[in-house]
Amino acid sequence: MKTQALDSKQKEAREYQTEWSGIFFKVRKVLYQKRSAFQKIEIIENDFFGRVLFLDGLVQTTEKDEFFYHEMLVHPALACHPHPDNVLIIGGGDGGALREVLKHPVKKAWLVEIDEQVIKACEKYFPWLDKSLSDPRAELAIADGFEFIQRTTEKFDVVIVDSSDPVGPSAILHAKDFYQKLKKILKPDGIIAAQAGSQLLHLKEQAQKARYLKKMFHCARFYFGPVPTYPVGTWCYHFLSDKIDPLRVKKLRLVPGLKYYNQGIHYASFIEPAFFEQATKGSR
Ligand code: SAM
Repeated sequence: MKTQALDSKQKEAREYQTEWSGIFFKVRKVLYQKRSAFQKIEIIENDFFGRVLFLDGLVQTTEKDEFFYHEMLVHPALACHPHPDNVLIIGGGDGGALREVLKHPVKKAWLVEIDEQVIKACEKYFPWLDKSLSDPRAELAIADGFEFIQRTTEKFDVVIVDSSDPVGPSAILHAKDFYQKLKKILKPDGIIAAQAGSQLLHLKEQAQKARYLKKMFHCARFYFGPVPTYPVGTWCYHFLSDKIDPLRVKKLRLVPGLKYYNQGIHYASFIEPAFFEQATKGSR
């Protein structure tokens, strides 16, 4: 997008994303631009990537490559759980995670998004959101995910944390306190899957998080996948559970029609590269 003066929130976001590299998109058309109570929302049209959603100047989703991220965020957990009846998605206002969750035989899928404007914009420009929200199993709550988990009386089989980067309203979704509270609303055999940033850029944060997550859950693994339009390209995810180890599940529930995730990718994605293992190994 055209260079604009950055406000303090955007500067904070850029610092997390680091300032020494970036990705550019040639803008065919600006489709949507609005500042909500939480963030600046922009959707543009690019000739190759299609529609691209930015929040505070950071890429969230592109039509062309969103399947890498959404399939990897959702399917490893859902494929491992024997009966994922009640599923909670925190964040995820672009609807990609909800669309993937609904491919499994779930009874109810909650989408808890803080920013109603993101939902409104994405309903218009990313039609899969509208379609997913019309599914009778989907339940939308416009709320802060951290507040929601403290007041809900529900217990969940799978929780998907589809947060933005740990700046602004999303910062709390990356904190120790959040995971402690999340564990309380997880059923004993439940699974949490969460996006965990770039494998290369956010190594320090991942090592810090690993230290407490490995104490909190019997099984706390990182797994990895490509997302071409996210910073540096390889993205990390957390798989957290007290009962289910994704490497010991013999029969994955694979759903048809996926573009990236399959049985081979499942097991391969948990292999930690040497530098990553080294950086996080003290936290075991
Ligand atoms: N895949 C994306 C990424 O990593 O770049 C994230 C996608 S999704 C658009 C992230 C969503 O989380 C945003 O729509 C944002 O409004 C929402 N969000 C941020 N903080 C939140 C909070 N505290 N509670 C619920 N939703 C939140």
